[in-house]
Amino acid sequence: MAYDPRPVEPAIYKRWLDAGVFQPRPEGEPYVIVIPPPNVTDILHVGHALNNVIQDVLIRFERMRGRATEWLPGTDHAGIATQNVVEKRLAAEGKTRFDLGRDEFVKRTWDYVRKTGNTIIEQLKIIGCSCDWSRQRFTLDAEYSAAVREVFVRLWEEKLIYRGHRVIHWCPHCLTALSDEEAEHHETNGNLYYIRYPLVDGSGFITVATTRPETMLGDTAVAVNPDDPRGRPYIGKKVRVPIADVEIPVIADESVDKDFGTGFVKVTPAHDASDFEIGMRHSLPMPLIMREDGTLGEDGGQKTTAAVKDNGGGRDRPTARRVPPELVGVDRFKARKKILERLEATALLVKTEPHRHSVRRCYRCDTVVEPRLSDQWFVKMKPLAEPVLAEYRKGSFVIIPERWRATFEHWMENIRDWNISRQLWWGHRIPVFTCTKCKHQWADRVDPKQCPQCGAGPVEQDPDVLDTWFSSWLWPFATFGWPQDTPDLERFYPGHTLVTAPEILFFWVARMLMSGYHYMDQRLPFRTVYLHGTVRDTKHRKMSKSLGNGIDPLDVVKLFGADALRWTLIAGSSLGADVILDPNDLETTFAPGRNFANKLWNIGQFVLGQLPKNVTAIEAVDRRQLTLADRWILARAQAMIRETTVSLEQFRLDEAAKRCYEFVWNELADWYVEAVKPRLVSGDVGTAGAILAYCFDAALRLLHPVVPFITEALWQRLPGRTADELLAVARWPVARPELDDPRADQEFARVKTVIEQIRSIRAEYRVSPKTRLKATIAARGNDRPATFEGERDTIVRLAQLDSLALDGAPQGVGAHAVFGDGSEVVVALEGVVDLTHECRRLSDEFDRLEKQLGNLAARLTNERFVSRAPQDVVAKEREKEKAWRDQRDVLAGKLKSLGCS
Ligand SMILES: [Zn+2]
Ligand SMILES: [Zn+2]
Repeated sequence: MAYDPRPVEPAIYKRWLDAGVFQPRPEGEPYVIVIPPPNVTDILHVGHALNNVIQDVLIRFERMRGRATEWLPGTDHAGIATQNVVEKRLAAEGKTRFDLGRDEFVKRTWDYVRKTGNTIIEQLKIIGCSCDWSRQRFTLDAEYSAAVREVFVRLWEEKLIYRGHRVIHWCPHCLTALSDEEAEHHETNGNLYYIRYPLVDGSGFITVATTRPETMLGDTAVAVNPDDPRGRPYIGKKVRVPIADVEIPVIADESVDKDFGTGFVKVTPAHDASDFEIGMRHSLPMPLIMREDGTLGEDGGQKTTAAVKDNGGGRDRPTARRVPPELVGVDRFKARKKILERLEATALLVKTEPHRHSVRRCYRCDTVVEPRLSDQWFVKMKPLAEPVLAEYRKGSFVIIPERWRATFEHWMENIRDWNISRQLWWGHRIPVFTCTKCKHQWADRVDPKQCPQCGAGPVEQDPDVLDTWFSSWLWPFATFGWPQDTPDLERFYPGHTLVTAPEILFFWVARMLMSGYHYMDQRLPFRTVYLHGTVRDTKHRKMSKSLGNGIDPLDVVKLFGADALRWTLIAGSSLGADVILDPNDLETTFAPGRNFANKLWNIGQFVLGQLPKNVTAIEAVDRRQLTLADRWILARAQAMIRETTVSLEQFRLDEAAKRCYEFVWNELADWYVEAVKPRLVSGDVGTAGAILAYCFDAALRLLHPVVPFITEALWQRLPGRTADELLAVARWPVARPELDDPRADQEFARVKTVIEQIRSIRAEYRVSPKTRLKATIAARGNDRPATFEGERDTIVRLAQLDSLALDGAPQGVGAHAVFGDGSEVVVALEGVVDLTHECRRLSDEFDRLEKQLGNLAARLTNERFVSRAPQDVVAKEREKEKAWRDQRDVLAGKLKSLGCS
């Protein structure tokens, strides 16, 4: 009978909510995980499912161990992402955000967020997440915003925030600056263009190589390495930039790579970060020749904020116009083509070479990012990063898997200042104010009415908003009420485990460590960072909307239930490794989870059907009454309890799941239940019932973190449960050393082997399951007959025997198998199978093997083969010879025991 999770799961989730079991216990040592807040506009994808199920397993495990668990949920306002979604919707109405204006746009975005923002939270409930929903937070709610503002002002007061005039990453689609981390590297097949710049003195040309010829309009120098002999004659001369038609100097700068292109590089300080550095060293002009939307032009930005408008066209405006009128307003990539055509026509394009290089793209919209000189707010990161790196090296926190160490240390050592201003409208507005009268500039905790310096006004606020990560980096303490001294903050900070994908190690995790250390008295926000793998398809591609290779976790829940989804994700992901799922075959992909749920359900139906109302507690069972099978399963249960607990403590969740599976399926169902059936049938339920109930109860508890719904449903029905008891808050099992029994373990293993041997003889000779066989065990060494005597009935029944002789001499002909310390089991086959036929089959096989062996031996005695063939080939042949000889000996034994002539 198949288990149907659909009516079960929502009802159980409701019971947990009604009982308030997700909220931390009032007493007890806390265990805290803060959720990586999904974007408020997100719809649950399978990556979220993996991330949250891992957290739920850990939280449920610690909750059952008696800790006061706090799994803090919430969502991120997600600046660019959310603004993009709302702008897309406006575009459908034929409008832009500029048509609405800032206030109206922000209002619209709030409306949208209020209407749709809880979608992902509701989806997390469907997959069973046991978050403390009473403490759900949003990075833009009022209290949280106060914390963000407090941190900004404190950083300002500590002089860790500064206005930087430099080349940043600019997304021409999102119309905002991006941080280094948000501008992601992509390997791209591009071209390297060799372009001639004529010398002003008419003496010839200098050839430069570039991947972005359109930026030549902004060139203010050509640079060469001072150690490059090719460049020396030209240093100090002037060249003319084609098309832009301006004169620029040839300069020497040590940063120029002699091996790139011709050794001469064009310098575009406003549109390249390293050219900007050269420009600073040589006091070069820095004209912007591109607008914010990626079209050519020298008028800076018209569309976005006032600040950008000012610095876009304001500073370093060239006296001469560089962009010819026909290129003004042309998109940068179209302009590239046109410029190349003109260069070609005037014989200034020397050659074009294919060139593989890294291009940065916007992490939100995938547009190629344009380096752009602009004024932005930066945070000085070195003072924040250094102590955290030192703590890491001291072992104050760990990142698992350990292989992330080098990457993490390298990034922390070479940390760059963080560009935190975004030219967006959705987010925390930067609390920097400027007096229009005296130009005094300051950061403020409240919106000021007048200038604190001159007492007059008016006062203008910076139009930009903060990078969305500038709020989420405060998540582990801002969510508990910081900067107020709240009881929650006292109790739940610092937390314990952070579970996330490696992609946001630097965006988020490293920065949380820094802010926690800096603002929470040098106390780090967590001890363990657990970086899990990525969900990929069978071609190892990351699942994504654009590739159309995703899996909707809710589809899986509808088909197979949340437990099947959870089981497949957990059992399929070893620590830090990627999870491979087939989006085109949900049936096969989630079969392990569904099959396991069915098996557990069916074993449950059987066990529950057997148990009397009053089950003896395991500690009350008289241990002298136990059979070998009883002692064995109790010992196996202790092993399962210990191993599962250790695996969960070490974050090896898949091993924990598999260990329980093995117990339930391979030990309890396949062997113990089968072994005790006659006792149950005969009504001798006492001891066997107590043991079944104990083992099944333990397995349900241990499995609960991974498959919470089905285990709760079954556990509720165990005898002796009161109506208000819930497995979700039941005690985690602890091993009972008095039930360990290594001897029973060993002895029952032999009983199992005998049964398995007889079963495989049955299979080999195709004996019908209805045919009862006669078997003899000739025990040797430690395989004392007494071991088998005690379990004689079990062996007879499970191997479908007619009779079992112990320690007798085997009678007649039959099949035999050796096991243990040289003991043998012999199964009589006379009258059961057609011996003549079997003898012929086996001797044919024997003859064929003999012949093959003869050929092989001839090769191996052939001097020429042995001396000329490669060593490993000869070695392989010898191994083969040995394997065939063994096989032949087995066959000879079979022929002999069947009495073939
Ligand atoms: Zn973008
Ligand atoms: Zn003033």
